[in-house]
Amino acid sequence: MTVLSVHNPATGERIADVTADDAASVAAKAARARAAQPAWAAQPLGARKACIERFRNALEADVEELAQTLTAEVGKPIRQARNEIDGLRGRIDFFLDAVERAVSPETVFADAAMTERIGHDPLGVVANISAWNYPYFVGGNVFVPALLTGNAVLYKPSEYATLTGLHIDRRLHAAGVPEAIFATVVGAGAVGAALLDQPVDGVFFTGSAATGKRVAAAVGPRLVRLQLELGGKDPTYVADDADPKAAAESLADGAMYNTGQSCCSVERIYVHERIHDEFVRHFVATVAGFRIGDPLADGSYIGPLTRRPQLDVLDAQVADALAKGATLAAGGKRIERAGNWFAPTVLTNVDHMMAVMRDESFGPIIGIQRVQSDDEALALMNDTRYGLTAGVYTRDEARAARLLRAVRAGSVYWNCCDRVSPRLPWSGHGDSGVGVTLSTYGIQTFTRPRAWHLRPA
Ligand code: NDP
Repeated sequence: MTVLSVHNPATGERIADVTADDAASVAAKAARARAAQPAWAAQPLGARKACIERFRNALEADVEELAQTLTAEVGKPIRQARNEIDGLRGRIDFFLDAVERAVSPETVFADAAMTERIGHDPLGVVANISAWNYPYFVGGNVFVPALLTGNAVLYKPSEYATLTGLHIDRRLHAAGVPEAIFATVVGAGAVGAALLDQPVDGVFFTGSAATGKRVAAAVGPRLVRLQLELGGKDPTYVADDADPKAAAESLADGAMYNTGQSCCSVERIYVHERIHDEFVRHFVATVAGFRIGDPLADGSYIGPLTRRPQLDVLDAQVADALAKGATLAAGGKRIERAGNWFAPTVLTNVDHMMAVMRDESFGPIIGIQRVQSDDEALALMNDTRYGLTAGVYTRDEARAARLLRAVRAGSVYWNCCDRVSPRLPWSGHGDSGVGVTLSTYGIQTFTRPRAWHLRPA
């Protein structure tokens, strides 16, 4: 029996030991899911919706307990933990509302001799391998619509968010989802790999581009549905007609919320030279006002990093940038206390020779680069192997539209950032992944279309 130890990233203390799965127990869960799935799919949609609605209500009733656990194991500041759990309820409301119109059979042609209809069948048994940074969001984007559409789900929370994964597991079962239909597998990457060895009908992965490519290599030859929601190096351009203070305040939050550990965190900022210095002044002042401290304290805005190795990545990005001529406008080093703390960091005079402008930072660190024109900003925004989100701050809607049409990204923002809506599709280009979650596309993706050709005898 393997034991997985859970540590509090704010203090380094061990807070729980959890029994992990092994290859045999993963296989047994997969076999039970396979056997149980047809009966789950055969239930009326209303019965599955009722389970998900009870789960949603449990999230509401238990929000404080769930938020405390989330903060204890990933270090997310408590208000942001509550926001995430409340946010999942909002997403569930969307899925409950939209599922019928997304997957109801549709008659697309009918005359006296022939009726043509599109149906939507569940995929069957799907694997949901999830990340730790927003475990309720990135897990819920998959397991909620997958369950609603009649699939069984083998769910692997990140090893850094295991206690949250088990909270989700218990509440789904209490809400009426059979244990065989939603089965949680506990463990680190090796258990994720064991899950991929099972004969599943779809793999829905959220995590880093590096792991995503390994998952793609393992799953590709099996010819099953594969979705990868991966990282980003999300750029924003602040044009010369933007309000520098409003843009700085908005973007500082977009860069540092969740301690910068969001797939859609603002990771690169390009500012027109006419307002660059004023923008930087406001940005640094906003960051200086962020309260760093005990994530369980209500006023804390910056917490620890969830994963200790990320401190080395941030150290290396700062050292690389400074060696190549960047200016440190704030932070730049670890905070000396127990746990995984890094000071919010602002680098200016940066360029694309520096890792901080090329590689995902996934922490409270931002590079701000001066540009001379919209076209220079656009070229720099597209100079990346990622393509998750991109934004433009300008008063001019037509200017924003021209730039946002030309940028390579799944989501584009005008005068806003770091935003996800359940009503809109979430997808990426390049190393940001393949496939779609959220919106009606993100419901249909858990089904396969069936073409019905119906001729009356
Ligand atoms: P990882 O890639 O490290 O891990 C993702 C998941 O894969 C974890 O559950 C992990 O398990 C598991 N895993 C690790 N190795 C394997 C393997 N060989 N086979 C199968 N599964 C495996 O990512 P993080 O959890 O660190 O998440 C951060 C990343 O996720 C960032 O790059 C971020 O941008 C991205 N992300 C993307 C989102 C999007 O919507 N595009 C949303 C949220 C995050 P374990 O943790 O137990 O090792």
